[in-house]
Amino acid sequence: MRKKIVAGNWKMNTMLPEGFNLAKEVISKSAGVPTDVELIVIPPFTHLSEAVKITKGSRIKVGAQNCAMWDKGAYTGEVSAPMLGSVSVNYVILGHSERREYFGEDNQMLFKKINLVLENSLTPIFCCGEKLDERESSNHFKVVEQQVSESLFGLTAEQMLKVVIAYEPVWAIGTGKTATAEQAQEMHAFIRQLLTKKFGVNISNEISILYGGSCKPSNAAEIFAKADVDGGLIGGASLVAEDFIGIAKAF
Ligand code: PEP
Repeated sequence: MRKKIVAGNWKMNTMLPEGFNLAKEVISKSAGVPTDVELIVIPPFTHLSEAVKITKGSRIKVGAQNCAMWDKGAYTGEVSAPMLGSVSVNYVILGHSERREYFGEDNQMLFKKINLVLENSLTPIFCCGEKLDERESSNHFKVVEQQVSESLFGLTAEQMLKVVIAYEPVWAIGTGKTATAEQAQEMHAFIRQLLTKKFGVNISNEISILYGGSCKPSNAAEIFAKADVDGGLIGGASLVAEDFIGIAKAF
């Protein structure tokens, strides 16, 4: 049985005290969320140690938003996977569309990062998704296939089992424009089919595929009800504890 996951990507938002309060609120409101749903908060790097401390003993897991392509050395400004492991983070988002767009991350770099994250016993949340013009020109399947194959198909089956995928159509991120539940299901099923072809059905059935893109309490239930949607990667709505938890309760 694959895991149901709702993860909140805080992006570059919240000062430390605000982040502290937000994490506390998420913990206190989490009681009503079905126990089989994994809840993850993903604050900025500066908040990680505190977030791990605050969430200790609760059901909330902590993730980072990125990591370096190397494990240590002269890479000023970077944070490595072993460093994230050393502060007991559980998850790392890799390949978010904002990283691809503003920091030039490509599929090959992401393959290296995924390996480093796995080597350090952390779980990568690998993001993929097409831009608006790619969907409008009916290239969305091709784009996602290339992202998935170039970043994930070099992994062993054992490694693949430890990866979480987030399908995030770029045109739906932070725009208020959500993919329809049917559009999400269609792409999730396509991704699962790709995984089945490469790794076999037993593996592909175990991999959680999250949807991301303007997910809200009002639209989450319809999206999460789809067979191949195993949860959500939530941006804007994760900054309001009530909305984040409202989305998680949609399961
Ligand atoms: C995201 O950035 O991963 C995301 C899904 O953002 P939003 O929910 O704000 O569209």
